[in-house]
Order: sequence, then C-alpha cells, then structure tokens
Amino acid sequence: MTKKKATKKKVAKKTAKKKTTKKTTKKVAVKKKAAKKATKKKAVKKVAKKATKKKVAKKVAKKATKKTAKKKPSVDLKKQLHDSILELIRVTSTVIPDDVQKVILESLKKEKEGTSAEYAMKIIEANIELAKKKSQPMCQDTGTILFFIEHPAGYHQNEFKKVVEKAVVEATKKGYLRQNSVDTLTGANNTMNIGLGHPSFHFHEHNKNTVEVKLMLKGGGCENVGAQYALPHTALDAGRDLKGVRKVILDAIVKAQGKGCGPGVLGVTIGGDRGAGFIDSKEQLLRKLDDSNSIPELDALERDIVETANKLGIGPMGFGGKTTLLGCKIGVLNRLPASYFVSVSYMCWAFRRQGVVLGANNEIKKWLY
Ligand code: SF4
Repeated sequence: MTKKKATKKKVAKKTAKKKTTKKTTKKVAVKKKAAKKATKKKAVKKVAKKATKKKVAKKVAKKATKKTAKKKPSVDLKKQLHDSILELIRVTSTVIPDDVQKVILESLKKEKEGTSAEYAMKIIEANIELAKKKSQPMCQDTGTILFFIEHPAGYHQNEFKKVVEKAVVEATKKGYLRQNSVDTLTGANNTMNIGLGHPSFHFHEHNKNTVEVKLMLKGGGCENVGAQYALPHTALDAGRDLKGVRKVILDAIVKAQGKGCGPGVLGVTIGGDRGAGFIDSKEQLLRKLDDSNSIPELDALERDIVETANKLGIGPMGFGGKTTLLGCKIGVLNRLPASYFVSVSYMCWAFRRQGVVLGANNEIKKWLY
C-alpha cells in the first residue's frame, strides 16, 4: 500500500467514525427527550392523581359534614316533637274548640231564663272560661287519650309513639291529664297513663308532606253510654235502612239521658264490622260541628237527629230543656251482607279534641280547630 492510499483510508475511517458518533449522539438525545417527556407525563399524572384524591377526600368530608349536620338536629327534632305534643295535650285538655264553644253559647241563649237548663248551661260556660284562664283541665276526668295521625309515606310510627308517650307522662306530671289509666285485671294505677292500648294511636298515610296530629280526650261517663245496634232490631222495629238507623240513634239518645254529661255530640257509623264501626264513629267526632256531610241523605239525617233530639225535652244534664244534642255526625262503611251495624259514640259537653299540623322541625305550624 502506498502512503497516499493509507492516508485516504485513515481519513475515510475518521469520517465514518464521526458519522457514527453523530448518529449515536442524536439517538441518545432523542432517547433523552422521550425519557424527559415520559417523566413529565408521569409527574403530571401524579399531580392529577393527587388532585383527584384530594377532591374525593373533600367530597367525602363534605358528605360526612352534611350527615352530621342532618343528624345533629334529629335530637332537637325529637325534643321539638315532644314539646309540640305536650302543648297539644295542654290545649286539648284545657281549651274547648271554637266550633263547640260557638254551639254551646248559641244553645245557652235558647234556654229559658231561670230554668235548670239555663243554670246548667251557665255552669258549663263558666267551667269553660275558668279552665282556659287557669290552664287547668275542663273536667276531672281527662279521659281516654286517642291520637289520630296523618303522615306521609315512610314516617317512623314507633319513634313517634315513644316521643308521644314521654309527652303524655310529662303532661300527667304537670296535671294537664289525670292519672287515668289502670291495669284492668289488678286495678293498679302506676303508669302515668301509659299501658296496653293507652294512649290509643290511629295512623293513616296521606299524600301530603306534612304530619297532622289530632287528639281526643274522651271521658268515661260519655263512653259508657255509647251503643251498638245490629239491624234489624225487632224490639225497636228498626229495619236495615236509614229509617231503621234513625230509630236506633234516637233510642241511644233516650237511653243516655241523665248520664254522659249532656248536652252531647254523637259520632255514628253505619256498617263496618263491630270494631271498625266503633273506631270510625269516634273519627266522626273529629269533624267540625258546622261542616256538612258530603252524602246528602246522611247530611239530612244528621240535621234531623239534632232537631228531633232537641225536642225530646231531655236537656242539659237531663234537667229538661231545649239542648240535648249539640251535633250529630254520621259516616258509613261497607259491611257484610249478613251484618248491618250502627255504632254510636257519645261525646259529653266537655268535648276535648284539638289538632295541629307540624312543620319541618316538628314545631306547631297550624292549629286545626
Ligand atoms: S262525661 Fe265528660 S263531663 Fe262528664 S265526667 Fe266524664 S269527662 Fe267529665
């Protein structure tokens, strides 16, 4: 090999080496760039992940706070329900509903001056005023405690009962209610109005969002003169029609004279079985005295019964006079072909029933009577 040739080869080798080095450097640079990009991506992902985690944690914390916030007032809700029911009991026991007082005062005006009937009505009037003024029970017999509750779907009835029972005990301690419920078999009276079937709760679901609680305090004397007839009733010549119904209702009024602390109000139910008939007859007493029956025949019968009863001369407390009945409310239930019951519940002049609509926090939003 000549010297020239050898030099050429050397130069070529150098150039090739340079090219290879350049290529490698480029490759490394590309790789480095890619690695950098990947690292960046990873870092962004990490940050995003962290942010998401933080967001989720925040959401969870927010939910927990909301739950706590929701839970917190539930203790207050129970207390508020307790206080509202306590007030409902106080008012029911001590203040006669407006619709009843109105009829009592109208009846007083109709009684002849100086008669025993007028005297009895005046005592009733004074009794009503005094009870309201002193916030004391209208009558020493504060009666059977009956609650009628209308509530939306999903309402916790057992929780309601527990709170109400506590309110009943407190109302008894405060003297709004007499210690009135005894063990039937032993006669023991040591449960502050709480016992089997007492108070009596009647729940109905309705389509509104609100809860309506009605309370009736029904005295023993008037409960004793309630009656149930199975028609046909041969002795009274009462058949299975409204004429027969009229006969047995008037019979119940005559039999109650001098008992049950009249003038009274009748709740009547035609039909049903014996149990349903009596419960519904009590629910008729939840109607306002000045309302009208939506069934024309029954509306006419209600007016006829009051008019006829007040001509019987029984009068307040059975002393004679023009006021025997303050009202009569008649309902109807389906029956079996084999049965035709007429159930009569009698309410004395001390007609204690009230009702409230509860607000979202169980506060009393509205009085119903
Ligand atoms: S019947 Fe009525 S007024 Fe008479 S004692 Fe009983 S609760 Fe009182």
